[in-house]
Amino acid sequence: MKLVMFDMDGTLTDSFAFDYNCYVLAIERALNLTGVVAEWESYPHTSSSCCLEEIVRRHRGHVPTAAESRAVQARMVEHMKELHRQHGRCTAEIPGAAACLRALQEAGYAVAIASGDWEATARHKLTTARIPHEAIPAAFCDVSHVRIEIMRTALARAAAHHGGVKFDRIVYIGDAAWDVRACRELGWPLVGVGHGPHAGKLRALGTTHVIPDYTRLEPFLAALDAAAVPIAQAG
Ligand SMILES: [Mg+2]
Repeated sequence: MKLVMFDMDGTLTDSFAFDYNCYVLAIERALNLTGVVAEWESYPHTSSSCCLEEIVRRHRGHVPTAAESRAVQARMVEHMKELHRQHGRCTAEIPGAAACLRALQEAGYAVAIASGDWEATARHKLTTARIPHEAIPAAFCDVSHVRIEIMRTALARAAAHHGGVKFDRIVYIGDAAWDVRACRELGWPLVGVGHGPHAGKLRALGTTHVIPDYTRLEPFLAALDAAAVPIAQAG
């Protein structure tokens, strides 16, 4: 059995600019901070939880409590709902993502989700984007700040979900530089998601196969078979 594991933001769902504002606003409002800036690439690990810890540490000199983290997550979901109600803006699916997940399962693939977002905010986005996620093994940054640990947890949950199977092949689907690094570290093949200059950047980082979206299933299935572990870069 083959496992196809998906990142969420930018891979299954398209909401980055909108998310960023909700995330920053949620931290400011829930923790009474001002001038919050999220510099995703500058933190030790790219996950919502690690990013929150670094932001709060820089503002207060110590990390937030678990209750404060939960308050930020709840506030973020509230902001997303409010934007939807007032402006009709909400998380969308990457075209064809929901149908692709169903088609993969019907074709006998195991699927999983591994996201650097919190479970509470991720499930809200997946539901809003109409991605079928409830029955899919998944792991989020609630289990670890570290992306490869989230991916390993999602792998363990997917294996358990399928009766302890050892997968013949694992392919990760992701859209960011940190996905490329994680796949290189784990030795997992990667299919990138992006178009235009973004696709070029993923290829330059060593991603062997990049798709623009999931509207054409055949090229995606071919990429799943042919994708390799991202090539290590010189230097
Ligand atoms: Mg992503």
